[in-house]
Parts: sequence; C-alpha cells; structure tokens
Amino acid sequence: MTKRLLGGLAKSMTNTLQVIVIGGGLAGLLNAILLARAGIRVLLIEQKHYPFHRVCGEYISHEVTPYLKSLGLYPRHMAPAQINTLKISTHQGRLSTLSLPLGGFGISRHQLDLFWYHQALDSGVDFKLESKVVSVTYSQKRFQVVLYDGTELSSEIVKGAFGKRSLLDKYLQRSFMEQRSPYVGVKYHVKYPWEPHEIALHNFEKGYCGVSQVEQGKLNVCYLTHRDNLKKSGDIATMEKNVLGQNPHLNRLFQEAEFLFDQPLVINEISFKPKQAVEKHLLMSGDAAGLITPLCGNGMAMAIRSAHLLSTSILTYFKNNNYSREQLEKEYTRAWKANFSYRLAIGRKLQDAFQTKAAMDMLVTLARWPLMGRLIVKQTHGSAFYP
Ligand SMILES: Cc1cc2nc3c(=O)[nH]c(=O)nc-3n(C[C@H](O)[C@H](O)[C@H](O)COP(=O)(O)OP(=O)(O)OC[C@H]3O[C@@H](n4cnc5c(N)ncnc54)[C@H](O)[C@@H]3O)c2cc1C
Repeated sequence: MTKRLLGGLAKSMTNTLQVIVIGGGLAGLLNAILLARAGIRVLLIEQKHYPFHRVCGEYISHEVTPYLKSLGLYPRHMAPAQINTLKISTHQGRLSTLSLPLGGFGISRHQLDLFWYHQALDSGVDFKLESKVVSVTYSQKRFQVVLYDGTELSSEIVKGAFGKRSLLDKYLQRSFMEQRSPYVGVKYHVKYPWEPHEIALHNFEKGYCGVSQVEQGKLNVCYLTHRDNLKKSGDIATMEKNVLGQNPHLNRLFQEAEFLFDQPLVINEISFKPKQAVEKHLLMSGDAAGLITPLCGNGMAMAIRSAHLLSTSILTYFKNNNYSREQLEKEYTRAWKANFSYRLAIGRKLQDAFQTKAAMDMLVTLARWPLMGRLIVKQTHGSAFYP
C-alpha cells in the first residue's frame, strides 16, 4: 500500500486531514461518504445544521437509483413516491402528458440529507456544522481553509460542494459571478389531492412551477421565475395570484392547497452560466461545478454522479504516488466535461425557450407526439448509471 493511502487508513496515527469537503448537500455528503468508506480522513464543513429545507423540486431521476441502492443510500424506509408521468401545461393551462421512460422518486431534501448525514457519520466522516468557510488558499501543496469564527484548518485536497451560489464564489472571483442572474426560486410543501406517479410542470409568464409528491403524501411545489415578475407584482403573494394564477392549474392549487410552511423558501440570483470544474486547485462537484436548469429535473442526479467521478479521481490520487495533482485536476476536468457539458448546454437552450410564450406553446404541442416527447426528455436526461 502506498504512503498516501496509509495516511488515510491510520486515522489514529495522524491528525493531518487529507480532504476537506465544503458544503453538505448531496454532492458533498456523498463524496465524503465514498472517501471515508475507502479509508480517507475527511472533514465536511456545512454552514447549517441538519435537517433543513432547501429550494429544490425534490424529484430525483432513477438514473442514480441502482447506484444509491448499491451504496445503501436509497431511502427505501421512507417509501418515496415513484414517478413515471410528466404533465406539462402552457401558460393558459393546455396540457400534454409524457411518459418518463426512466422516471424518478420524490423525497424531501429535509429527510434525504438527514439520512445521508447519519450514513456519513456511520462511515467515519468528521463534521463541522454551523460553520461557514470564508476563504480557501493553496500554497506549498496544502490548502488553508478559514472559517467565519477565525478557525484555520489545513488539508491536502479541498473539494468545493458549496452549491449554486456561495460567498466563496465571490472570494474565488469565479467568472459567473460577474453578471447578475434574473432567476428566483420559491418552494413550499403542501397538502393537495395528487396522483403519486405524476409530476407536473406548469408554465406561466417567464417561469414554471413543478409539482410532485414527496414522503408522507406531502407535495413539493417549487417554481422558478424571472425577477421581473416579482418587481412588477411587488411581493410573492401578489405575484402568485396575478402571474402564476393565470395558469388555471396553478390558480386552483394556490387557492385550494393547505400550505405547510409558515412562509415560502426563497433563493435568488440562480445562475445557469458555465463554471469550471477546477478553480484555483479546488475540485468542484454538484452545482458548484455547474447547475442544470431545474426544468430538466436532474440536478441532484448530476450532483450524485459528479461526486462519484470526483471521489474516484481522488482515490486514484491517494493510491498512486505517481499520479500528480496536475493529472488529478486535468483528468477530473476532462471526465466532468465528457459527462455533463452536453446536458447543460441543452438545458440552457430549453431554459431560454421556456422564457417565451410562443416557443413554450410549440414545445407543449410537440410533446403531444410520443416520439417527440421522448426525444425532448432524452436530450436532458442521462441513462441509468451503473459505475
Ligand atoms: C428551483 C429549483 C428546483 C430544482 N428542482 C430539482 C429537482 O426537482 N430535481 C433535481 O434533481 N434537481 C433540482 N434542482 C437542482 C438541485 O437542487 C441541485 O442540483 C442540488 O441540490 C445540488 O446539490 P449540491 O450538493 O451541489 O448543492 P446544495 O444541495 O445546494 O448544497 C450546498 C451546501 O453548501 C453549503 N454551503 C454553501 N456555502 C458554504 C460555505 N461558505 N461554508 C459552508 N457551507 C457552505 C450550503 O449550506 C449547502 O448545504 C433544482 C434547483 C432549483 C434552483
């Protein structure tokens, strides 16, 4: 066994951290679990504490289900909703129904992240919760990571899994931060009559709203809107009534559903611009490496697959003394692009198309043709993933 790997296996022999993971969403948790199970000493730093809600449609493509089952990370005990049918409506509410060949499952991030957090603890991952990373620098083959309270930590590898937008993006001067993004995301959990196997994508002017079931018969209602809608309406409730309410399906839902949160969960400045998979030697995965538009419904599957890719690359690095950091960065960047660039580009085009009413109407009409519908779904979804 090589020196690098021995350092990881003999936890008690050294206090030196091999890997720091910044961010404990799906990408960060999975990466930490995979590395810890392989004997690497990992610390995961997350600014919040589990469990907590996130703005997310909470539909996970079955693309990753066999992989999650093989790792014991599929939340079978929560009986997630099994989803295989997409209903998509135009601004006026005209509906098309598409079958989703792979389909997916519905589970709240509140529960899934908590489950994986416990799995990570069992796997030997160390955690620093309620700790925000404010800076990361690399010099002399080590990273220095500084937390908000001034604590300094050091490690050989740092993995950036800090999601779509973090103060670290600003600190690292990432190019996508140079332009403001107009997209705002809003999420609720509600009670409302629903067919568990269905997911709906209801469109409205400059936005769309996903509706699907999560655990315990609750529904996730999550929408992405252009900030013009909010500006024009003044506040979220008025926007939901005047803009989303133009779509009769949404109008009914917002009037009749029982809302389970005290207030909506909101995030803004959601950017779909291309990002780099490696930035100032930090290895990015999940949304930190690239966010696919939510209408594709597979950001979480991509986060999971990118965590698999990255942990495989990091393990190769620790197992093989002749595999340099430069090789690690180059090989991971190549693999990331090969796996995700095409999907992201198609997702960006679809996102633009969904912004105009005419294109949206045409898409919904085309989707009525089973072949065309399948083609649209196929362009944005991966196939089942068996590493
Ligand atoms: C409106 C909307 C709807 C969506 N719907 C779906 C869907 O239905 N299906 C799907 O597959 N995908 C969906 N997505 C995408 C999906 O939510 C993401 O792709 C997925 O959550 C990415 O996981 P992640 O681990 O990369 O990031 P996240 O889950 O965002 O985790 C990042 C973590 O990093 C932490 N963090 C950030 N900065 C710091 C710091 N400085 N220090 C410490 N911690 C930090 C955060 O607190 C957070 O916990 C949607 C996205 C949006 C915006």
